[in-house]
Amino acid sequence: MQRGTNLGRLGDFNQAVIFESIRRAVDGVSRVELAGSTGLSPQTISNVVRRLLDEGLVREDRTIVSGPGKPRTVLELEANRMVAVGIHLDPGMITVAMLNLRGETMHSRRLDIPAVEVPEKTIEAMAQTVEAIISESGVPRSNVLGVGVVVPGPLDPERGVMIDPPLLDGWKDVDMVDPLQRMLKLDVVIEKDTIAASIAEQWKGNDAERDNFITMYVGAGIGAGMVLDGEIHRGISSNAGEIGHFSTGVIAQECEICGRNDCLHASLAFSMIAQKARAGGMNLDAPDDGTAEQRAAGMNEIVSLAKSGDEAALQLIRDCMGHVGQVAGQLCNTLDVGLVIMTGPLWSEVGEWCLEDVRDIINERFSSKNVHSIEVRSSTLGHEVGAIGGACAIMDASLSPKAAALLLR
Ligand SMILES: [Zn+2]
Repeated sequence: MQRGTNLGRLGDFNQAVIFESIRRAVDGVSRVELAGSTGLSPQTISNVVRRLLDEGLVREDRTIVSGPGKPRTVLELEANRMVAVGIHLDPGMITVAMLNLRGETMHSRRLDIPAVEVPEKTIEAMAQTVEAIISESGVPRSNVLGVGVVVPGPLDPERGVMIDPPLLDGWKDVDMVDPLQRMLKLDVVIEKDTIAASIAEQWKGNDAERDNFITMYVGAGIGAGMVLDGEIHRGISSNAGEIGHFSTGVIAQECEICGRNDCLHASLAFSMIAQKARAGGMNLDAPDDGTAEQRAAGMNEIVSLAKSGDEAALQLIRDCMGHVGQVAGQLCNTLDVGLVIMTGPLWSEVGEWCLEDVRDIINERFSSKNVHSIEVRSSTLGHEVGAIGGACAIMDASLSPKAAALLLR
């Protein structure tokens, strides 16, 4: 049976541009203002606005009086007209979130998966949670744009398959998209966690900063997301942002993957962190060379110690994040961005202790510092950043104006 698709609903580039302008105008925007900001003719604006009104995506029933002259009637987003759902599969946790068109979280849920190494069961649990959230929300199914599933890389987005995520045992060559699509009867896209984080920040960010920035995702793994000239940079296989083997400039231990001894991965290897922790007087329950789960638990132990005021634990965490800052600084040199957003599950726990150091390290490392400085801040999205990124990814695929779309004309 053929099935309809929501993707490309706003495929017309002009329509996408106008919709995006209305979506971002918190206080509404008039047709005259739209013509000014988009450079489109009043006739084009009128045609597109008619379509958006017919679809119920915007409304035009409020008049604002500001200053002398005629009151203006503004177009406003009908934020709850469509929704999108994001699922984030993290080695420690699964998070599901439903967002409206403004990018506001309407519902979210965390899932503890006892047998995460059995993909079929986990994917089934994801689908059930999405179903539960949709029915809880009361949103008609036809108003759900789709589902964005966010996973650790590397992945093959064409086939919708996770290749071999280093931190998730049992997830080699697992097909994510087809089973979810079959169970949910909704469009599903797959996105790498580090890239999803940058999509989330772009959707939630303000006008001044959403066009050029990087996100540093600090979780069980570490990766970068890049937004350049207003577009998410995915690379040719949607796996961009692998910065794990950049040099930190500090000798650590031999990396089992790249063979160097000063890469970020080696500097943040749990076995080495655990040794330093023990040398600093911390008694960890986690073994130095345990499973991915045990390593995550060990990291949590160190974070808890730092929270309880253990100075050595705090310093150890600051040193680790300093290495991340070194690599972020190199990325800033390559891309010449003015903003770095620190994010990810681990960063949301430790960011408040490390932000200032990391900001200094990035700016110190930045070669063009006599031209401009780099703003470094923590994401405000916390643990939900991955799920939010997934929902934003499906909205991005359906609604955002893309420069690439112009090439078809
Ligand atoms: Zn390495």
